[in-house]
Amino acid sequence: MDELFFRIALGVLLVAYTMIRLPHARTYKGVKKIKTEGQKRERLLVGLATVGTFILPLVWVFTGWFAALDIGLGDEIRIFGILLAVLSLVFFHWVHKILGQNWSPVLEIGEGHTIITQGPYKLIRHPMYTQVWLWVIAQFLIASNWVIGLTGVIAWSILYFVRAPREEAMLIDEFGDQYRDYIKQTGRVLPKIRRR
Ligand code: SAH
Repeated sequence: MDELFFRIALGVLLVAYTMIRLPHARTYKGVKKIKTEGQKRERLLVGLATVGTFILPLVWVFTGWFAALDIGLGDEIRIFGILLAVLSLVFFHWVHKILGQNWSPVLEIGEGHTIITQGPYKLIRHPMYTQVWLWVIAQFLIASNWVIGLTGVIAWSILYFVRAPREEAMLIDEFGDQYRDYIKQTGRVLPKIRRR
């Protein structure tokens, strides 16, 4: 299949991603924050993740700059990547809706913040981070390029591994046993395997 097909596909997916996020970003602006954790660090992490998971893929869509590091994956695998990305976007929309005004691009507690334990949060504590993991893998497959694959995975790993423990510590600090009990019943990005 033509390379142009995959470029257009990823371009459209990136636009869809942005459209899903926009209304929530608007809601976010209207919520008063009562606590912020590691603001400078968090901004740096978000910047890094945005470059790795969004800006560089956009560069791939519009230029041929990374062509020397193409992997040459088969069309079937790249189309599977598109399906995975679509699936991850449906999940993204759902997670955003359920998390509601508790969503924040950084680590914060907003006014009227509540711990969400429904929908995907019933089984996993960080479904939105699960979604980004799916997204970076999907982009890797669609672009079939080492630059996109490695920068996406590395940038996201840094944000995820630095942030997740701090996010949980912040929520324990704020909600105490309610969040501690919630941790016992859930997995971080995959459902917890229950042993009998
Ligand atoms: N880590 C979650 C949320 C990402 S948005 C996920 O991957 O789905 C980050 C913000 O969500 C943080 O500022 C934190 O205050 C808030 N948050 C995280 N888990 C939450 C939960 N279970 N209920 C309510 N807010 C939560």
